[in-house]
Formats: sequence, structure tokens, C-alpha cells
Amino acid sequence: MNYIDPHIHMTSRTTDDYEAMRKAGIVAIIEPAFWLGQPRTEVGSFKDYFSSLVGWEQFRASQFGIRHYCTIGLNSKEANNVALAEQVMEILPLFVLKENVVAVGEIGYDDQTPEEDRFFREQLELAKKVDLPVMVHTPHRDKKRGTIRSMEVILEHGIDPSMVVIDHNNEETVQDVLDRGFWAGFTIYPKTKMGNERMVKIVEQYGSERIIVDSSADWGVSDPLAVPKTANLMKIRGIAEEDIYKTCYRNALDIYGKSGNMKESDWASGFEIDQSKLFDGNSVLRGQQPAQTDSKNIIEN
Ligand SMILES: [Zn+2]
Repeated sequence: MNYIDPHIHMTSRTTDDYEAMRKAGIVAIIEPAFWLGQPRTEVGSFKDYFSSLVGWEQFRASQFGIRHYCTIGLNSKEANNVALAEQVMEILPLFVLKENVVAVGEIGYDDQTPEEDRFFREQLELAKKVDLPVMVHTPHRDKKRGTIRSMEVILEHGIDPSMVVIDHNNEETVQDVLDRGFWAGFTIYPKTKMGNERMVKIVEQYGSERIIVDSSADWGVSDPLAVPKTANLMKIRGIAEEDIYKTCYRNALDIYGKSGNMKESDWASGFEIDQSKLFDGNSVLRGQQPAQTDSKNIIEN
């Protein structure tokens, strides 16, 4: 089975991860713009980061047989630095229309401050203007209140819930999100929070309509194989193949495909891998490493 991981921060992962992901059946990924683990101090570092999401990282993924898409946005933590956030808002329009951008995101609330609220709303207006889906990061603290507030604000701005993924759900938020017509993303964290056993129970209870599994893997303790592993566990637990297909592949394609920038034909017939290729003069190879020239070698090694 093929999988899509619609929320993974590959900038912080290794080429070993890319190889393992492709071997496990991941054919496409979405990398949301977020913070770096520490606050940025200059608008230039946002600019270079967004450039890498629409440039180098897309190329790097392609060298391992994976289609890479991204979302562009000002994350909620850094919305609290107002002077910098205002400068970031000025450069966002330059990036949201790039060819591999499938949503504005991840945006929303962290501590639910007035500053976060301001820039969340401004970016919802931007998404409306360019007609892109929205990926919403829900807060890890005070989650239920923050999730409901996020949805109320989105509706207030006149955005159709079918254009929005509310991410990082749990058992306490899923019903509210589905009832209001939004897509519900679930991040599978190893050991803590949402584990894949809990995810299986959610699919058993709520089915697969508008439910999406992702890894949110980044530079923290996380698992870039969370989607295929959860799919395997669903299989073992007797979840219907159709439900696995929808939660671990199809639903992500349906919602982010609304951007017009993500289509199954981008990867369905395979695409040529040539690791001797260069991006701006650089390749993924180091020293005298032999280049892999098709996906078979990478998958079977
Ligand atoms: Zn994230």
C-alpha cells in the first residue's frame, strides 16, 4: 500500500529517514512551515527557510523517490514577536503561490495570546485571498478550548470547513471537529500523547471520513514511519482496507489536492531518480559515493 505523510518536518531529518520512508511505502509528504526549536531573530531566516521548503528540500525528497509539498505560514509561537511577525507577513505572499505549496500553515494558537490571534486571522484572510486550504496547529496546552476557538475564528472569517485541516487532535477534540465539518488530523507520537494504539481505537469508533494520520516528525523524539506503522497496526486489528486507505493516503490527497498543486499523477506512474542530479550546483551525494539511478535500488538495498 502507498502512504502519504501530510505533516512531517523533513528539514530536521536525515537521508536514512527518506530511504526508510520510501521503503515503507511513503510516496508523498507535506512539510509545514514551523519554528526551529528556538526563536528566529531576523526576517531573513524566515525567507531562507521558506525558500528551502519550496526548493532544496523538495529536490532532496525527489532524490529518494518521494514527492514533497509544503505549507507556508507564520507559526503561532513566533507570532508573539510582533515586530518580526509583521515583516514575515510581508513576505508570505511571495511564497504561498509557489508550485509545491498546498496550504497556508501551520497556523493557529500556541498560548492563545492576542498576538497569536491577530496573525492567525491575518493568515486566514491570506488563505482566502489565494484560495488555498489551511493547516491548523492546535495548542498542546488547553487543547480543547484552543481547538474550538480556532474553528470559531475560521468560521467567523467565512472559510469553508472543508478547506481546513485541524491537526493534532485527540479523543477529546475529534467529535467537535467532525461535527463542524472540518478535517481532523492526528499526530502519532511515539510513547506519549497520541500513540498508534489510540489511533486504531479512534478509527474503530469514528470511521475514516475526514480523518487523517500524520507523524509531525521533527527534531524532537518522533517517528517518520508513524503513518505506515499505524496502517500496519490497523490491518492487524482488523480495520477495513478502505478505512486504512482513506486515513493514511486518500483523505490527505483529497483536502490538500484542493490547492490544485498536488495530484496522484505526480507520483502514480513513478518518476526517475538520478542522484547525480544537481540543485543549484549541489547534490545529495558526498565524496565518491555512487549515485542511485532508480527507485528500485533504493527500495531494495
Ligand atoms: Zn508541525
